[in-house]
Amino acid sequence: MKPEDEQADPGLLDLGTATTGTERSMATSIGEKDPESFTLVIIGASGDLTERKIVPALFDLYRKGEIPAPFRVVGCARTHLDDQGFREKMRKALGKKTRSSDAEWKAFAERLHYWSIDYSDESSFVALGTFLNSGVQGQGMAQNRIFYLAIPPSLCELTVGMIGRSGLAAEGTEGYGWSRIVIEKPFGRDLKSAAALDRSLHEHFNEHQIFRMDHYLAKETVQNILMFRFANAIFEPIWNRRYVDSVTIRALETLGVEHRAGYYEQAGVLRDMFQNHMMQLLALMAMDPPSAFEADRVRDEKVRVYRSLRPFPVGRLNDYLILGQYGPGVVRGKEVPGYREEPGVRPTSLIPTFASMRVFIDNWRWQGTPFYLTSGKRMGEKVTNITIQFKEVPHSVFRNVLGEHIAVNCLTMGIYPDERISLMFQTKHPGPRVSLTPVTMDFRYAQGQEDALMEAYEKLLLDCMLGDQMLFLRQDSVELCWSFLTPILNACETCSDRSEMLLFYESGTLDAEAVERLNRTRMVGI
Ligand code: NDP
Repeated sequence: MKPEDEQADPGLLDLGTATTGTERSMATSIGEKDPESFTLVIIGASGDLTERKIVPALFDLYRKGEIPAPFRVVGCARTHLDDQGFREKMRKALGKKTRSSDAEWKAFAERLHYWSIDYSDESSFVALGTFLNSGVQGQGMAQNRIFYLAIPPSLCELTVGMIGRSGLAAEGTEGYGWSRIVIEKPFGRDLKSAAALDRSLHEHFNEHQIFRMDHYLAKETVQNILMFRFANAIFEPIWNRRYVDSVTIRALETLGVEHRAGYYEQAGVLRDMFQNHMMQLLALMAMDPPSAFEADRVRDEKVRVYRSLRPFPVGRLNDYLILGQYGPGVVRGKEVPGYREEPGVRPTSLIPTFASMRVFIDNWRWQGTPFYLTSGKRMGEKVTNITIQFKEVPHSVFRNVLGEHIAVNCLTMGIYPDERISLMFQTKHPGPRVSLTPVTMDFRYAQGQEDALMEAYEKLLLDCMLGDQMLFLRQDSVELCWSFLTPILNACETCSDRSEMLLFYESGTLDAEAVERLNRTRMVGI
């Protein structure tokens, strides 16, 4: 027990702005280790992820003084570019961010280099190694290395092999520091391919060197789920089947497939969103408290959730799963084409762009409580949130005046666009008559602290520099998620009435409420 004066004094908190002792100590513990200098090698640096996410996040970290000097970034891809061309491409991608602070950009840009490679030619990776060892203009490069695979999934196994065989994965031997590899979702396209990818990673890297990235996990509001649940004594006792009626996890997008049709036609919504983001959110909501806030303790608890997932009733798919594909429509006042009319999509494609599924977790805590997971493109609104709907009061003492049913309490954890936690409960409407009014108690996450919010890619890059794997996936969880989803994918992809399974929805029409109505009409037993 801490002495009284050391404990956080919550006082009368203004939920939006207060900083408690607990928050301060958490901030200290997360930032307490300093990263060591390193060289970041981005494979696939001519692509979308590099210019939209990786380099902007690095630049922001650099501006905040979070990256230790000296560091260098070496962009690699087949496209022929020189250092100057790569810097110019990145500057354009950063857009407005560079205008305000040219001096900062210039200093950062000097650390960006480019090296052309051929993914299938080992000598090209050996030459990259020589370049990394010799440095630039007489200045050596840090021997700690992060290899970031920003390439299509189909190239990952090949590239991992090239990195390994050319000796770039080695760590600890003379002249080398540590070596880490970052790999982006999707991790394979089913259980078998995920295991094969992992075997090739483990041929050359040890588990502590492998960082499997799911950027959802690094969103502040997602990280906050564990703080909310386990740093407060009042929620955990009701976080179970006795009090919770259902949990709904939504990730709705208004965007379509954009320029990623090649990938999406192979993936669809189940591989793109469910295997990773949705299953991760499910685990954070359903897991038991870990014994400590440490990478493996947290990941152990998530794995226990996946082990308890009830096998999906693939013989009754339509009762538990709704799949859809967007047709033409209007989104935010703009006419948009249907999925089948998007460039690169087959005109007869049966790839689902929307899915809503009901999942059960067969354990002591959650037996019988449905978890609804929904994600889709070209929806009526862009929203990511989690709603916990509590059970009705066991007996309504107000039934003589208000009738039998009282609207239930709801706790909503907003991830996007509202980064907030809201609790809906009933109060007496002021006045002489007995009537109830639902009210909401609201906590807005960034209130007064907008500058402190860290973008997901910044957080993950920083954690990778520190070697902290807490927010990265462990292979056992990847495989358990595939074990759950692969039978569903197989059943959907091989069933004779595949097109009948698909609900063709008009773009811009399905918002959260419409999805709920759809679940109620299409899924049995709701
Ligand atoms: P891109 O499609 O933009 O490809 C990246 C680079 O890979 C290309 O610039 C290209 O460079 C190289 N490449 C090599 N072979 C091929 C090929 N057959 N088809 C296409 N490109 C090829 O990928 P992203 O940057 O969008 O994504 C990289 C990884 O990150 C993927 O695994 C993706 O799933 C994942 N990801 C991406 C997100 C995003 O927002 N973009 C979000 C989350 C994950 P060159 O030809 O010069 O060698």
